Amino acid sequence: MKEFWSRRIVDAVPYVPGEQPKGQTFVKLNTNECPYPPSPKVVEAITRAAGETLRLYPDPECLELRCAIARREGLSPDQVFCSNGSDEVLAFAFQAFFDPDKEIVFPQITYSFYPVYTNYFGLTCRQVPMNPDFSTPVEELMGKNGGVVLCNPNAPTGQGVSREVVEKLLRANPDVVVIVDEAYVDFGGESSVGLIDRYPNLLVIQTASKSRALAGLRVGWAMGNPNLIQGLCCVRDSINSYTVDRLAQAGAKAAVEDEDYFTQTCQKVMATRERTAQRLREMGYTVLPSQANFLFVSHPDKSGKALLDGLRERGVLVRWWSNPAISNWLRISIGTDAEMDTLLGALQEL
Ligand code: PMP
Repeated sequence: MKEFWSRRIVDAVPYVPGEQPKGQTFVKLNTNECPYPPSPKVVEAITRAAGETLRLYPDPECLELRCAIARREGLSPDQVFCSNGSDEVLAFAFQAFFDPDKEIVFPQITYSFYPVYTNYFGLTCRQVPMNPDFSTPVEELMGKNGGVVLCNPNAPTGQGVSREVVEKLLRANPDVVVIVDEAYVDFGGESSVGLIDRYPNLLVIQTASKSRALAGLRVGWAMGNPNLIQGLCCVRDSINSYTVDRLAQAGAKAAVEDEDYFTQTCQKVMATRERTAQRLREMGYTVLPSQANFLFVSHPDKSGKALLDGLRERGVLVRWWSNPAISNWLRISIGTDAEMDTLLGALQEL
């Protein structure tokens, strides 16, 4: 089966993405996509970019997009790095800032790509157990380590920590890079971008995939000290200089500049989240408080797997992990109000 494979990939344990169903129409609440379309300005910008210039390579530095992000965040463009989705930015960051002989740390229940990168890049990690209420054990991420990865708000639990807590973490780990993955921060979390000027070891990573409804375009970015940004460029230019195509650069720039549309989208998602959480609690479910575009949910009597399968039979896809620590929990992405009503109806039946 693995004939001709390098040792590196023979030993790899790849990430398993959520199902993207083909054919049958599901209510798709399994990959934290935005239920609303991207800003009309994005489609206009992509249409404009889809012309004769496609024969030319894109700007490898993504300068216009970086300027747009920098303007929005009060940074300078040399504090911003863009790439092909934040997964790629994370992959570059693991390679740029962590060494095999220095154990990195992250929480035990967090984005499941972190252990995949750790293994694939030959790094070592310590995964610290969650607090009993599933909140992030931030104190345990302090002290001697080779780097820290904090998903804030955390996935799949949805709970975030304050900027003050992140600052404590940065102060306690001044000699290593602290990556703060803010994929979900726009749905009620507290961003750490404001700390970048004071902490040269902070790298904040965000994405256009969730709050800007562009999972299909593949754009993510990192923000941090210019020295860290240069480190990411060094990795990128050792692998593939043109990671963000012309259409993606144009579309993402338009999305970042359409602040009103962005705010409306986030507010709709958050309102639906609160309404759904309340209904689920009334139905007897335990629902963790969420600052993200998903809910982490369990039922006192029904196993997570039984709920997953029952929902699938009723045309609703959600996410479940076999990891025993969370196997009685489901992560349910926030869809439209109508989609959440379908979910609630299916759960009622179950
Ligand atoms: N970080 C977290 C915590 C995520 O859940 C995701 C989405 N799966 C990503 C990063 C990557 O998102 P993207 O590559 O679409 O930017």
